[in-house]
Amino acid sequence: MFETLLLNFMFILFPILIFLIFFENRAYAYNSKILVLLSAVTMCLCIAKPFKLDIGFIFDLRYVPFIIVALFGGYKNVLPLYIILNIYRFYVGGEGTLQSFIFATIILILVPLYSKKFLKLDSKGRVIAATVISFLTMGFYLSILSFAQGTSNREFWILTLNAFTTHVGVMIINMILIEKIITNIKNRDRIMQSERLNVVSELAASVSHEIRNPLTVTSGFLQLLNKSKTMTQEEKGFIELSLQELQRAEKIVSDYLSFAKPQSDNMVYSNMEAESEYTKNIIMPFATMHKVEVQFSFNNSLNKSYDRNQIQQCLINLYKNGIEAMKDTEGGTLFIDIFEKKQNIMISIKDNGVGMTKDEISRLGKPYYSTKAEGTGLGMLMVYSTIDKVKGSIEVDSEKGKGTTFLITIPT
Ligand code: ADP
Ligand code: MG
Repeated sequence: MFETLLLNFMFILFPILIFLIFFENRAYAYNSKILVLLSAVTMCLCIAKPFKLDIGFIFDLRYVPFIIVALFGGYKNVLPLYIILNIYRFYVGGEGTLQSFIFATIILILVPLYSKKFLKLDSKGRVIAATVISFLTMGFYLSILSFAQGTSNREFWILTLNAFTTHVGVMIINMILIEKIITNIKNRDRIMQSERLNVVSELAASVSHEIRNPLTVTSGFLQLLNKSKTMTQEEKGFIELSLQELQRAEKIVSDYLSFAKPQSDNMVYSNMEAESEYTKNIIMPFATMHKVEVQFSFNNSLNKSYDRNQIQQCLINLYKNGIEAMKDTEGGTLFIDIFEKKQNIMISIKDNGVGMTKDEISRLGKPYYSTKAEGTGLGMLMVYSTIDKVKGSIEVDSEKGKGTTFLITIPT
């Protein structure tokens, strides 16, 4: 019994180990097919080496990988597993083949129904949910068994206890390991992103400072020169032009390099109403130019302290990206929705533009990542940096060809 338990435990650990060794550092690039395949191997191994109780009953842990794949992967991923399970079960044959088939079908239909909700839970919630589901599954399985046998004697209760504890116990351990891996990957990504932002932030601060000074000095002298009486009208025109260009350069410096540290004279404690109104008005001409409609709603009474310029720039960057994503779409609409939810300021920016693949989403916010011919790839970097500074988080929901939603949560 103990050997079988160890052996089965090793089967269950097998996909986790393979994932950790080969795919962990490319978590975004891995193919879910590989995980499904590994789970299929685990499942078959579990069926091949079942627990044989002295009283003659047999049970195995095939439903542990099955349920986990059903919960994380939904119908699409668990279907191949279901097919493999049944082919293998038919191949083994013997008593209970039909029951196994019916039972697997019921799980196939019921468990993935819950997948979407499951994925929205937090780490702890997922462990608990998976445990409860494995508990219910085993309960269901054993009630069918007792019904079919027509008995519920002492032996049956021993079996029940054994099957329950093993199944549920292995499920808990397995889920804790999986969640731990997911948390580690997420933490590492967050640290890397934060590190990256720090470097850029510092660089931006010094560069923008260094460039702004000469710009100010030059523009000052040009203004003085402009007052000279000996200059011709044409020469004055040149100076006007130079001044305009200098102003533009200054604007670019402050726009693109504004992800420097928050500046104390820009800090406000407010509900973002002024900023969102201001940025909406700024973006309107740009939207009209690209034939995009803007639907705006503001409903927030929570206050937060933030750098006014940075928040404005951050919103503009997001709006611009949304509009740019829709410039080839007929009837594009940008939905901007700012509201409050449980002491959080929520900013939702939704477009029905080109959308992004998972891979593209994971590249967002990396310096100079841009798919546009004239893009800088600094916009999203600035967005992430600003939201990071107010301790907020950004959730990206996007589908290629359908559109993108950015949901920003800022705790107050
Ligand atoms: P840029 O806009 O200069 O390209 P950003 O940092 O603002 O740089 O955006 C980086 C990339 O992210 C864009 O080139 C685009 O591919 C992608 N992106 C950002 N927002 C969206 C969106 N709303 N819809 C589709 N793709 C987007
Ligand atoms: Mg942009």
